[in-house]
Amino acid sequence: MSGVTNVEEIFGKNVFTLGKMKERLPKDVYKEVKKVMDQGGELSMAAANVVAKAMKDWACENGATHYTHWFQPLTGITAEKHDAFVSHPDETGKMITEFSGKELIKGEPDASSFPSGGLRATFEARGYTAWDITSPAFLKEASTGVILCIPTAFCSYTGEALDKKTPLLRSMEAVSKQALRIVRLFGNTTATKVTASVGPEQEYFLVDEKLYKKRSDLMFAGRTLFGAPAPKGQEMEDHYFGVIRERVGAYMKDLNEELWKLGVTAKTQHNEVAPAQHELAPIYETANIAVDHNQLVMETMKRVAVQHGLRCLLHEKPYAGVNGSGKHDNWSITTDDGMNLLEPGDTPNENIQFLLVLACIMKAVDKHADLLRQSASDVGNDHRLGANEAPPAIISMFLGEQLEDVVKQLVETGNAASCKEGGKLETGVSTLPDLDKDATDRNRTSPFAFTGNKFEFRMVGSADSIAGPNTTLNAIVAEAFCEAADRLEKAEDFETAVHDLIKEYMTEHQRIIFNGNGYSDEWVVEAEKRGLPNIKSMIEAASTLTSDKAVALFEKFGIYTKAELESREEIIYETYAKTINIEALTMIDMAGKQIIPAVVKYTKTLADTANAIKAAGGDASVQTELLADVSTKLAAMQKALNKLVADEKEASAMEDVKAQAFFYKDTIKATMDELRKPADELEMIVDKDVWPIPTYGELMFEV
Ligand code: ADP
Ligand code: MG
Repeated sequence: MSGVTNVEEIFGKNVFTLGKMKERLPKDVYKEVKKVMDQGGELSMAAANVVAKAMKDWACENGATHYTHWFQPLTGITAEKHDAFVSHPDETGKMITEFSGKELIKGEPDASSFPSGGLRATFEARGYTAWDITSPAFLKEASTGVILCIPTAFCSYTGEALDKKTPLLRSMEAVSKQALRIVRLFGNTTATKVTASVGPEQEYFLVDEKLYKKRSDLMFAGRTLFGAPAPKGQEMEDHYFGVIRERVGAYMKDLNEELWKLGVTAKTQHNEVAPAQHELAPIYETANIAVDHNQLVMETMKRVAVQHGLRCLLHEKPYAGVNGSGKHDNWSITTDDGMNLLEPGDTPNENIQFLLVLACIMKAVDKHADLLRQSASDVGNDHRLGANEAPPAIISMFLGEQLEDVVKQLVETGNAASCKEGGKLETGVSTLPDLDKDATDRNRTSPFAFTGNKFEFRMVGSADSIAGPNTTLNAIVAEAFCEAADRLEKAEDFETAVHDLIKEYMTEHQRIIFNGNGYSDEWVVEAEKRGLPNIKSMIEAASTLTSDKAVALFEKFGIYTKAELESREEIIYETYAKTINIEALTMIDMAGKQIIPAVVKYTKTLADTANAIKAAGGDASVQTELLADVSTKLAAMQKALNKLVADEKEASAMEDVKAQAFFYKDTIKATMDELRKPADELEMIVDKDVWPIPTYGELMFEV
């Protein structure tokens, strides 16, 4: 693909948009669809049949041969099973394609091979997919042809959610209902729902495919398990926002076009901090659509990379020693009559509704800091959170100077009489305009930062689905809204009551606010003094899902049942153990079959050279010394390798998944480090020609 791109022409080309439905559906059917979209409820079978026919016709006109119920099982990625639009040919042998309302609305994939965490025994294999009418159907152009994808939720025979979409949709309803109660208190009678909006900034790495294929760690684990630092890393700070290289630019161009066709508003692109690291951000949209679109973004990034002889790495930490990747989840809530509840206005101190919303969010984040941290955990993110680069594993809230000052006044005096203003930024150059300054600077080290009219949850992992974090966010905020509304709806004197409540919440939960450097050691000490949780790993965070507090929260709002939470906890242990097991096996393979044999050969060369020099009467001290050094490190590698083999056997035999996961974290990972250390040291001294795998320098700089 090259040449000029007409964004208006291609945008949404592969989406069965509302506009296309309006064109193709009879008025009454279109109205019914729109009503279900806006207000919920079920589509009648008669309408579903009409929609299905129109959708199929549109899809087939655009080359589709198959359809699929596209869903998001607990693997964290998407799943699809294709069915062709074929049916029995008629008596003349002619094929008339068919697609019924029933097929559109409900699917029945065999659920037995998806993780369910014990929710569903394998003999109860039935699972159902149900059309999420609020997320538009789209066409995927793949090597298999054009496939009509219908976004769906995935549940078991007994109605338990087996996916990430169902709880998310439930949480969106919960926060909508409770937020409506809040705006009603302030006299809003027109809003009928409140929508959570999400804009995820996606970071990724690119690597040359030929090099990628020479590294089984990248192929199997998505990250390097060995690798000495390159002579140049990110210390020059020359990559961030740097000029985009030709090859990467061509990739970004195609990626954008593919995404625009899918109705994804790919907006911002730039180089990130580490070499070969980049970012793409779409414009924010309704949470469930943003979640679907982020899955499409990740999938498309990988697909387009292959077309360019590249591979896209979404892992949170592909390379040791340089920045990893995350996903900033920008979140806000807006009424359907257009009011963003997180918009402070020019004088937030006078905006009582905003202050109440802020107080509720402070309470929610403080009370459920553990759950929020859990929602951002995945195996790869363990390498980032708290590792002095990404936000720490401690949840805190950044409000910025202006709001922090308002909160301080409220806590101290019960009144916020004034508020700091932004003022002018003088450029000092007569030909440049002076700029209006925001009232607040940014804080790049905060995991949960207020950024103008939204919160930016900066902890989320780059490879992870954003469904979990947004489900948790919606849920905890719904709870705080509900508790506030319960009190305020009963109040005789609303003004005094709301004033008291804001002061009370802010006073009780002010410990969650931190505007300083979140990467500093002092913060860890300070946070501990404040009693804020510091949960270091994914599997330590897992049990927060089933605490009494969490079960009460999620059950109250019908987001997860206790059984669903227990199953999710179990899946976390399973996923963790399986992932680290793959990493360990890959290291065993690479060390045993590639690195050690190469080093052994090298020692022979050294020995032969030393002997030859000695025989010729020369000074072989350098060769001898090098040989001794290499041999010592080789022995250390072999020893660690043997230990890793033994550890891995022990782990595989364990039956309790939780104990097994902790064994992987505490024992296996330590042995993996023991094996990597001498290998990386050897890489620095062994002849480059004999090193069997591409180096960091090649991987990061040859893109
Ligand atoms: P940054 O400067 O933080 O890197 P970006 O432009 O890369 O900003 O990304 C910011 C993201 O936040 C975008 O996806 C943007 O659409 C989204 N966003 C902006 N306003 C809101 C809002 N009110 N609610 C949710 N997301 C928003
Ligand atoms: Mg950004």
